Order: sequence, then C-alpha cells, then structure tokens
Amino acid sequence: MISVEQALEKILSYVDVLGEEQSPILGCLGQVLAEDIYSSIDVPPLDNSAMDGYALRPGDTHGASQQSPRFLRVIDTVPAGSISRYEVEPGTAIRIMTGAPIPRGADSVVRFEDTDEAQRKGSSNNEIGILCEATAGLNIRRAGEDITTGSIVLRKGVVIRPSEVGVLASLGRSAVMVIRRPVVAILATGDELVDINQPLPKGKIYDSNTYSVAALVLRYGGIPKILGIALDSEDSLVAGLRQGLEADMLITTGGVSVGDYDVVKDVLVKQGEITFWTVRMKPGKPLAFGTIKGVSREGVARNIPLLGLPGNPVSSMITFELFARPAILKMMGKKNLAKPTVDAVIENPIVNSGGRRILARAIVEKRGGQYFARLTGPQGSGILTSMTLANGLVIVPEDKTEVAAGDMVEVMMLDEVV
Ligand code: AMP
Ligand code: MG
Repeated sequence: MISVEQALEKILSYVDVLGEEQSPILGCLGQVLAEDIYSSIDVPPLDNSAMDGYALRPGDTHGASQQSPRFLRVIDTVPAGSISRYEVEPGTAIRIMTGAPIPRGADSVVRFEDTDEAQRKGSSNNEIGILCEATAGLNIRRAGEDITTGSIVLRKGVVIRPSEVGVLASLGRSAVMVIRRPVVAILATGDELVDINQPLPKGKIYDSNTYSVAALVLRYGGIPKILGIALDSEDSLVAGLRQGLEADMLITTGGVSVGDYDVVKDVLVKQGEITFWTVRMKPGKPLAFGTIKGVSREGVARNIPLLGLPGNPVSSMITFELFARPAILKMMGKKNLAKPTVDAVIENPIVNSGGRRILARAIVEKRGGQYFARLTGPQGSGILTSMTLANGLVIVPEDKTEVAAGDMVEVMMLDEVV
C-alpha cells in the first residue's frame, strides 16, 4: 500500500497543463491567464473630479475661509461623461460632478461642503462662495493614475478572480486567453444503482456519486461529462468508458475493492495500465489509478488518466478532494494545489488501529482566536449526510494510534470555518 503523498505524486506525474483557449471574461473565473495583458489606454483616460464640487484655479482661493469666502462666477456645470466647452479663467469656476473631466484652466476641485452652495438653495447659481484654500490637484484623479498606456496590467499565470475581471473590463477587454478547463468524464459502476430520474425499485439505490463528483468537478473549475451508470461487468464498464475517451480525465466510482464484482481494476489491466489500487488511508483505501488508451480531441492516440474512486459515497468525495482536485488544478495551470489546513484542538478521541492515515469528518469552529474541531458523528463511509455537516477533515497520521480529546490536530479545510 502506498502513502497518500506517493499516490498523489504518481497521479500528478500523469497529468499536464492543458492548452489555451479564448474565453469571455465572465466565463474564465478561476482559470489561469495565458497571456500578458497590456493596456492600450490610460485609466482613467482624463484628469477627473473625485468629488461633487467646483473646479477652479487654486490661486483664486488664497485666504478663503468660513469667515471670508472668495466669490467666483460660475460659468458652466459639467456632469460625468461630458466635457465642458469653457475654460476656467481667473475669477471663475465650473460646477463639476464626480468623474467628470476637469475643465481647461482648472487645477483643483473644492467639494460642495467647502462652499456656500447649501445656503444658496439654487437662488444665485451664477456665483459661488469658496470657504477654504485649495491646493493644486485637490480632489483631482489624474489620467492614468490606475493604469498607464502601454503598461503590463496582468501577467500570464495569474488566476482570474472578480478583481481581474473588473480590471480587464476597465481596459475594454471582452475576452482573454486562458488555460482551458479539463473535461472530466464520470462513470458510476454498480448493478444496484438507479439514475435519479427513475423510480427506485426494491433492492436498488440512487446513484449519488455521479452527482457529488460532478459537483466537485464544477466547484474546482472542470467540466463534468456524465457518462451514466455501468453494470458490474467488464463489457458494460468498457462500453461506458468508451463514451469518455476524449475527456482529459476519467473518474469511475465503485468497483475497486476486492469483491466478486469489482471490475475497474481488471479493465485497467486489460485496456491500459494500472499504477496502483490501494492507498494507506481511511476512508478510501481501495483507490485505483492508471491510464486507458484513448484519443485526443485532434484524434491522436493517447493515454487518459483514470482515477477509480471507491464506491462508498463519503470515500468517493474525500478521495476526490485528495487526488482528483489537485489533478484538475494542475491541468488548469494552477500552482497551489493544496487545500488550506489549520491547527485545531480536537474535542473527541480518535483511535487509529489500522496504521492508515485517517481523515475524519469534522466541524471546525473558531472560538477566542482558537480553532476547535469536533467529529460530525458516526464515521461510516456510507453516511453521506455527515459530509453536509463537515467543513474539515481531521488528519490522524498513519503512525499515530490514538488522538485524545484536547490534543492539537491538523485539519484540512473543505469549506470556510463556521
Ligand atoms: P463498491 O466500491 O462498488 O463495492 O461500493 C461500495 C458501496 O458504495 C456499496 O454500498 C455501493 O452500493 C455504494 N455505491 C457505489 N456506487 C455508488 C453510487 N454511485 N452512488 C451511491 N452509492 C454507491
Ligand atoms: Mg460496486
């Protein structure tokens, strides 16, 4: 049996960063930028006002105060999006709104609050009293203060987040080159499985793995391709997998333990190559990995990585987080493949008799600056609702036979701390 780290290293050695594609900026959230982005414009394009107020010449405000206002003639009003036809001459001012370009001749903006605008109530709007001295550049946002023409704005390799989407939009970019999302084909195996759109006959169960795994693929940025349910026979499995041979990765669930009907291993051996089929962890010991002969999108023969997740619903989700997630992120060109971990005080004892790494479902809370983890309850790997309670996985190392309540443990976070 190999360790979690050895298994992950093996899997990652079989996947590569995918090619590039052009994507609309809203379609590439979470993807890695595949080009350097330069700006062909200044942002903002012109000097503009940071306040609603009066654009004026600072020299006209010398000695201005509440007690001795300086009165200026108002020659125009300029809203955002317009350019005043007038030039601010000595003794004049232009009423200006936030974002409007600074008129010629003016070099500061005095906000309404520092004028007698409020007292006038629109009565004498061709004159304004300025109640403070203005320095040059006051309340002016300079052209190019955010981005200058010709500068590099975003570098190849960054992950597109909402802020990158916004910056791209501010440059007028509607599409960019990114590393494409991997297509992950998902095949559930088991004679007992029924699709969620069918009635449930006696003796059968609904196929939940297809949907939890597809949701995980989506969550981490991949494109799930649902292949449906294969029966526990080599023929059925091979027929199912055949529908996924253009995918970047194949995921099966079930059929990897040592029962009579566990066929994924056999198919891997016959149709490709098997790299390993057990990992020293709990849950998730039966986990098969290998490659299947397939074809690329361009029709070229190639080996597709196949991850055979265990059938138990909890095991399939946890092994996905540990092994499929990093593979997807690597294919997407990401550098940080690890889930964050926190050190927490464990509130329940855990016994580890099997010499495997335990990943126990837990609820992690922060109280008084300290993380605490308590188990979700029974840890049977068929209890899928426990995953809805958990936001973390307590890690008990292989060589640790027990953890006592109150011990410090490492917790891999699946979701935010509650
Ligand atoms: P297996 O690994 O095929 O022996 O399956 C282990 C357990 O997980 C069995 O109880 C199966 O019924 C259950 N199981 C397997 N596949 C699924 C699935 N797609 N959805 C829900 N339960 C499953
Ligand atoms: Mg099965």
